[in-house]
Amino acid sequence: MIVLSPDSVNKMYAQHLDWYPAIVDPPLPPVRISALADIMSQFDLILLDSYGVLCRGSSAIAGATEAIELLRQRSIPFCVVSNDTLTNRKVAAAKYHPRGFDFRADEVITSLDITEHYLSTLTCRDNIGVIAPLEHPSDHLLKDMCRLNSCNGEIPATVDTLLFLTGAGWTNKMQENLVSSARGKQFQLLIGNPDIGAPHGDHITATPGYFLADLVEQTHQQARPILFGKPDRTIFQAAIALHQIADPSRVLMVGDTLYTDILGGNAMGFQTLLLQCGIYLHENIDNVIAQAGISPTYIAPGL
Ligand SMILES: [Mg+2]
Repeated sequence: MIVLSPDSVNKMYAQHLDWYPAIVDPPLPPVRISALADIMSQFDLILLDSYGVLCRGSSAIAGATEAIELLRQRSIPFCVVSNDTLTNRKVAAAKYHPRGFDFRADEVITSLDITEHYLSTLTCRDNIGVIAPLEHPSDHLLKDMCRLNSCNGEIPATVDTLLFLTGAGWTNKMQENLVSSARGKQFQLLIGNPDIGAPHGDHITATPGYFLADLVEQTHQQARPILFGKPDRTIFQAAIALHQIADPSRVLMVGDTLYTDILGGNAMGFQTLLLQCGIYLHENIDNVIAQAGISPTYIAPGL
């Protein structure tokens, strides 16, 4: 497990802004609100990040289940949009039920759903080396690939594409071997979960975006990675298509991370709400916003 500081996570995101869509509007000072309930009726669709917004680890964050109940009472459509590469739509309802959420399968879209759609369009997958635990919900699509976890991170000569899917079980030693075996070669790069880090207890631990950025920085990879999760547009477009949204300014993206939720939402023309109950829980939020140059429309302590 690689533990990161909030500052190092933000610096790594900032070094790779060319992977992300451009921010649409110049930053304006955010409006502080007490909770989502203050503004929810202004929107045709509320998109919600999962970790740091609804859940922390395997527990619901205080107020989250009540906020979902209020959205249901007021008949305001919502959809969870998560860079979760261990959960696809088929297993989403079962995953969230023990955490106290009664989501239907069509109320959750994950970057694993987007990754699976991309992989299903490929006629050949045996040239792909994948970082993923040896049991994974997408095993039917991963079975022809080289499982890099089984190779202790060493990239075989037949691999010309790397898929950074899920960091669970990926060790420092595997990452070292990945980097050393990639030196002097160029790869197509696919990233299932672009997050650099995720809250894990009291720490922030490295997630697939970190492993990709580390590889690119150390081996000078030239290819622009294909992103299947936030802040890329594809996952947001899937969410608004599902809800037949014509006017993106009537959509609110709620998240806890500036470089994925807020940047991505802004680039889509959505309004954005940054919550302080996630990755920036112990940070001065105004300083983080100023340093990033990415400003949400609203800020609240939690849902
Ligand atoms: Mg989050």
